[in-house]
Amino acid sequence: MIRVGSGFDVHAFGPGDHVMLGGLRVPHEAGVIAHSDGDVLLHALTDAVLGAGGLGDIGQHFPDSDPRWRGAASGQFLRHAVSLLKQDGYQVINADLTLLCEAPRLATHRAAIRESIATLLGVPVDAVNLKATTTEKMGFLGRREGIAAAAVVLIERR
Ligand code: MG
Repeated sequence: MIRVGSGFDVHAFGPGDHVMLGGLRVPHEAGVIAHSDGDVLLHALTDAVLGAGGLGDIGQHFPDSDPRWRGAASGQFLRHAVSLLKQDGYQVINADLTLLCEAPRLATHRAAIRESIATLLGVPVDAVNLKATTTEKMGFLGRREGIAAAAVVLIERR
């Protein structure tokens, strides 16, 4: 049995000098406004994992009204979602992620972020693909007001 899930997340830029992407700190002219560490890649991916498992969404599992998740490292959200899948007998086959922003540029961080995500998911690095695109300077992403990510995950129960 295989199942697919998708996820999408957005955070506005705010005060700060870095953004968290896939569990790694990436220097940037701004930070993000978020209850947790605001890692859009991991939030989109967590939603994709939960979606594949039919397990709702990240807000249901980790409400931003809960002080426990203030400043939380988003890797723990993803690890929890993967553990819920495992309880149901599923494993992640692969994940494909897209980062949408004008900046920061992903190029020099891409390999390290793929490895970080693969470790969090418990899969080989070649099971994680990471893409980046701009929105051709259009809209809130084009105006550098924020950063977004989309993710798709395939899971299997043998
Ligand atoms: Mg988020």
